[in-house]
Amino acid sequence: MPKKIGLLLCMALMVVMILPACAPAVVATEPPVATEAPMVTEAPVVTEAPTEAPPVITDTELNVLCTPQEEWCQGMKQEFEAKYGITVNYVRMSSGEALARVVAEKDAPTFDIWWGGPIDSFVSAKGQGLLEPYDSPNYANLYNPTLMKDVDNQWVGVYVGTLGFATNTNWLAAHPDAKAPTSWDDLLKPEFADQVIVAHPSSSGTSYTALCTILQIRGEEAGWEYLKKYAAQMEYFTKSGAAPAKFVGLGEGAVGIVFSHDIVNEIENNQMPLVLTFPAEGTGYEIGGEAILKGAKNIQAAKLWFDWAISSEGQALGPKYHAYQAPTVNGVELSHPELMEANLIDYNFIWCGENKTANVDKFTNEIANAENLKQ
Ligand code: PLP
Repeated sequence: MPKKIGLLLCMALMVVMILPACAPAVVATEPPVATEAPMVTEAPVVTEAPTEAPPVITDTELNVLCTPQEEWCQGMKQEFEAKYGITVNYVRMSSGEALARVVAEKDAPTFDIWWGGPIDSFVSAKGQGLLEPYDSPNYANLYNPTLMKDVDNQWVGVYVGTLGFATNTNWLAAHPDAKAPTSWDDLLKPEFADQVIVAHPSSSGTSYTALCTILQIRGEEAGWEYLKKYAAQMEYFTKSGAAPAKFVGLGEGAVGIVFSHDIVNEIENNQMPLVLTFPAEGTGYEIGGEAILKGAKNIQAAKLWFDWAISSEGQALGPKYHAYQAPTVNGVELSHPELMEANLIDYNFIWCGENKTANVDKFTNEIANAENLKQ
């Protein structure tokens, strides 16, 4: 893993300390009622400089474009509603679909905030002028603001996840000569022909992370050559990034390429017969992002969510909803520190984001189209 992330994650682990929580917001359910001015009997004595009153929040709802798994989206909706008394409406979409929706709704956005999914898509959205800058007071919580925050405050990281392989243990038992893959080249072995499952990079941020990892490890020319062979090994492509872990667990294929926290979820919570391995030469990782959308109607509520999602309180909720990504803020214990011990490449989020449309189009037009993706 890049030393800077490893070091900083260790620091985050060690420094599990109390951090200043988000400043409490005042949520107004009704317009404030004017009261009579009190009668002045004596000249007031000024002892302190007047402090600024916290902003009054008048938004009563928030529309969230939610990219993590349904269970976490639903859990965060309920937690936010209970904390702030603001109704949350959300729609769950994979990253590529979410980006397409944000582009299509440029002039009249349905959503106020987009939460989750690899930041390559947020970098792409920023490049298209779709995000609203916000200088959050909670940026101070980030353990690596240089890496985890946009220089123009248009997106921020809310979790970190590493890419791994999920292999069906029943399939391994039935194929004693085969081993769970521990390198990208292993995926090309004859025994895995038509046995690998991954999402399509046009719909899925997980799959785009895999694609961009390959291009960075091998360089563009050799990377595209590898991707042709990789695509030829696929049994089918799915729409959502986490789905291959489920389908491989059900015995539809031998190996899935999935974020490791999603593999852990299938093993621990759904008792799927899977073993998790990582490519030894290096794997990619995601910083899951969030951003306020330009033209958001409920901007105050969107800022509240944005702040809360980079507070230790907000990030500590993940495991309660079976989301085992690493946090991006100090003061939260990692639920699965071993997932961050994989050999991570120095993933270039900006390059992958700025070239996302071109890379996905090349893959779709020249290697594997995006028709009939398995839901
Ligand atoms: N769900 C989880 C738990 C994730 O970590 C991610 C990646 O950020 C996603 C979903 C993204 O999903 P997709 O690959 O379908 O875009």
